[in-house]
Amino acid sequence: MTEPARGFIRQRSCPACGSGRIRPHREGTVSGRLTHDDIKITDSRYGLTWDLSLCLECGHLFADPCPTPEFIFSLYGGVEDPLYEDEAEGRARNFLGILKQLESLAPGKGPLFDVGAATGILLDLARSRGWQPDGIEPSAWAVRVAGAKYGITLRQGPFESAALPRDRYAAVTMVDIIEHTPIPFEAVNKAGQILRPGGLLALVTPDIHSASARIAGRGWWHLRPAHLAYFSRASLAALLGRAGFSIVRERRYSWTFSLHYLMSRKRASRLLLGNRQLASFLKRVRIKLALGDSFEVYAVKEKSA
Ligand SMILES: [Zn+2]
Repeated sequence: MTEPARGFIRQRSCPACGSGRIRPHREGTVSGRLTHDDIKITDSRYGLTWDLSLCLECGHLFADPCPTPEFIFSLYGGVEDPLYEDEAEGRARNFLGILKQLESLAPGKGPLFDVGAATGILLDLARSRGWQPDGIEPSAWAVRVAGAKYGITLRQGPFESAALPRDRYAAVTMVDIIEHTPIPFEAVNKAGQILRPGGLLALVTPDIHSASARIAGRGWWHLRPAHLAYFSRASLAALLGRAGFSIVRERRYSWTFSLHYLMSRKRASRLLLGNRQLASFLKRVRIKLALGDSFEVYAVKEKSA
C-alpha cells in the first residue's frame, strides 16, 4: 500500500455509518492531484474516480485516500465557474420542486439555510415564496455573484466548521453537497444542530445503485474527481440516522437542463454550437432528464445532536 499524497489521508472508518469494517474496492483513474477545474459544477469529464473503498456494513463507496478537509475547503474557496449561471433558469426549476416538497411537509415556512448555496439561485427563489433566506458558500466568487445578481448575502466558508445559531432554521437544503465533502457526518450533524426541533433537511445526492449508474457503468456522469463519495439508499439512511434524523419522504430526482447545456457537455456537438442562432434556440429548449439518477430525501430532526 503506497503512502497517500500530500493533502490526502487514509480513512480509518466508513464516513457514512462509522463502521471500521472497510476494505479497498477499486483502483481510481485520477492521479493524486486536484485542481480548481476538477471541482467545478460544470466540469464535463466523466468516469474519473479516486481509489475507492467499500463499507461492508452499509455499502458506502468513498475516496480512500481522501483529500483532507483543509485541502478541499481551500480549493473550493478559490473556484470560479461562470458557466454555472448560464443555466440559472433550469437550476431554478430544479430547486422549485424541492421547495414545493418542503412546503407540503412543513407548511409554516420560516428561516431556510442553504448549504453550498453557489450563486444564490435556490435562496432567491425561496425568498420569493416567503422563506427567509440564509446560507453559506465556500467560493468567494460565487458569494460575490449572489450579492450582485440576486441581492442575497451569503456567509463565506466551509459549512462544517461555521459559527451558526443553533436550533434556528425551519429547513436546511443540501443539494449535491454531501458527495463533495470529505466529512459527511460532520455536515449532516451540523445541519441537525442548526435546525429547530421538527425542522426539515432536504438532501439530494447521486444514487450509485440507480439504473443510470448501472447502464452507464464507468462512464457514469457522476463519476467525477469532485465526488469523494457515492451513496446508496442504505448508506444515506445510515448517515442520517447516525445524526439523529428520520427520513419522512424519498423521491427520485430528475434534473432539468437546456439542450444547449447538454450538447456543450459533448465535445462533438460543441462544434454545432458555434452557430449563434442555433445556440440561442437550443438554450430555450428545456429538457427534463427523467433519469432518476439521484435521491431526493426529506428528513426530520428528531433530537439535538
Ligand atoms: Zn458504512
